Amino acid sequence: MSWFRRTEKGISTPTELKRETPDGLWYQCPECKNVVQTREHQQNAYTCPKCNYHDKIGSEAYFNLLFDEGKYTELDKDMISGDPLNFVDTKAYPARIKATVEKTGLKDACRTAYGKINGVDFTISCMDFGFIGGSMGSVVGEKIARGIDHALKKKTPFLMISKSGGARMMEAGFSLMQMAKTSAKLALLEEAKIPYISLLTDPTTGGVTASFAMLGDLNIAEPGSLIGFAGPRVIKETIGKDLPKGFQTAEFVLEHGFLDFIVDRKELKDKLSSVVTIMMQPS
Ligand SMILES: [Zn+2]
Repeated sequence: MSWFRRTEKGISTPTELKRETPDGLWYQCPECKNVVQTREHQQNAYTCPKCNYHDKIGSEAYFNLLFDEGKYTELDKDMISGDPLNFVDTKAYPARIKATVEKTGLKDACRTAYGKINGVDFTISCMDFGFIGGSMGSVVGEKIARGIDHALKKKTPFLMISKSGGARMMEAGFSLMQMAKTSAKLALLEEAKIPYISLLTDPTTGGVTASFAMLGDLNIAEPGSLIGFAGPRVIKETIGKDLPKGFQTAEFVLEHGFLDFIVDRKELKDKLSSVVTIMMQPS
C-alpha cells in the first residue's frame, strides 16, 4: 500500500495550466490561457494580445496609462474612513480598514488625481476593487465630490473610472447618501458646461451603477465588463424567467441603449482627449 493516495478524483491539473514559470515574469490570460511576458502584457495596457481580455487593474495602473509620462498630482491622498456606526461583522470595521490598508497600500476604494492626457488637463477619480470590493463608503463619495470641485475650479473635464460591488454595508445609510451627494455635485458640473465622462469597468454594480456611473455626458465601458444593478440570481428570482445570453455585459448594455460606446483600453487615452476636445469647443 502506498503512503499517499489521492482520495478525490478530478483535481488533477492539465499540463497547459501548470505554472512552471515564476510569478511576476509571465502572465496567463484567464480567458484563453495564453501566456505572455508580464512586461508585454503591461505594454499592451493589460489586455491579452490573443483574445483581448481586459485584465482588472487598479487606480495606479490607470493613472500611469492615461496621464502623460505617468505624471499626476493626487488629491486628498490621506483621507481615511471613520466608523460612524461602530459596525462589527466578523471583525470590527476599523480593524477591517486597517488590515485592508496594510494589504493593499491604499487608503480607501477611490483615488483622485489631476494631470494631462495628450496635453489636455483632466481630473480623474478611479476606484480600486482591491479595497473591500471597491465598495462606496463616505471616503469614496467625499473624494469624488472633491474631485468634481477641483474640476469645477480648474475647468478641467472630469473622468470617473468605476469598478465596484456597490454600497459599503459597514456604513449603511452613510454609504447610500454618497449616491445623492455625488449626483448633486455632478449637476454643478453640468451647469458649468464641463464635460463628465463615466468609464464603467469590470465590474460596475449596485449603488455605483445607480448613481454617478450612469450620469456621464458620455457613459462608456471597457469590453466584456459586467455592468448591472442587482445580481443575475436576484433578478431571475424576481421576474421568474431565465435571463438572455450575455445579460449584464457591456456589449448587452450598449445594445440596450445604456452606453454610448465601448472603448478598447489601448485606445482609451486617445479617445478621451479627442472627445473632450470636441465637447469643449465653443458653440
Ligand atoms: Zn486571452
